[in-house]
Amino acid sequence: MKTMIAGALAIFASWALVDAAGAQDLGPQVKKLAEGVYVHTGRGFESNAGIILTDEGVIVIDTGQNPYESRNIWATVRNLTDKPVRLVIDTEPHADHTTGHFMFSPPGVVIAAAGAGDSMRAAERNAPDRIQRLAATSPEFRAALEGYRFVAPHIEYHDRMTINLGGKTLELIYMKGVHSESDTAVWLPKERVLFSASAFVVNQVNILRPFVTIPDILAAGKMMKALNPEHVVPGHGTPGTVKIFEDGEQYYALLMDRVGKLVKEGKSLDDIKKEVKMPEYASWGSQERFPTNVEAAYKAAVAK
Ligand SMILES: [Zn+2]
Repeated sequence: MKTMIAGALAIFASWALVDAAGAQDLGPQVKKLAEGVYVHTGRGFESNAGIILTDEGVIVIDTGQNPYESRNIWATVRNLTDKPVRLVIDTEPHADHTTGHFMFSPPGVVIAAAGAGDSMRAAERNAPDRIQRLAATSPEFRAALEGYRFVAPHIEYHDRMTINLGGKTLELIYMKGVHSESDTAVWLPKERVLFSASAFVVNQVNILRPFVTIPDILAAGKMMKALNPEHVVPGHGTPGTVKIFEDGEQYYALLMDRVGKLVKEGKSLDDIKKEVKMPEYASWGSQERFPTNVEAAYKAAVAK
């Protein structure tokens, strides 16, 4: 714990110097999207996090890809305000969004869609040595993991939840079947900033688990576009606009078209997996996930 605080203080001190010299330097990963609304962008395809400043304290949205990033997010919060973290909102329960909760809670109260706690506890049971292995990855991870505790959501909501805290309004919207067991879009209507979870990622093939469906993903995209956001912060990938959803829609439309044709020809899933190609998207990352996309497209085509 001491090391963690010392490290963070060192970062804080270096920023404080920059601050004293003039403009506030939040580093290359942090961007202000609206008054009191910041995004901490992950490196490459690593997860993004949100920092919302309110008159009554801070709301953090997801707590970082890994403990090192969580510590950077924590240091950014401290650089921006000395008010306490009041709430932590999970856009999904996976470890690359939630392992860092222990740095923010207490005092932060963790909120997620129903099913998040069960998902996190199951992941913990299935990999009891996960934190030990993570700590062994690098000295930075080991240091950042000091004081680690497993922190699951304190509050789980169904369907929708509205949070009014210190002048900020956040609408939490559950999205069924888009990525995990419990995905939440976080919408700030006044600032028109949308944290869109991992329903759509950017320039990357998403992993579509067996309970994820392409119609559900497209419905979530339609719902989120209808909010008319100015800024869209996906769970992974460079923040942008609703173009993130439109790019995803185009990709799934083309995939559905190609898989649908092969289904009509009477091809089996195995044959389709071998045959269907998406050369237009060869530059996207995580191509090893593509077979899960074909499986989802096949299921949707057969159900038609
Ligand atoms: Zn995930």
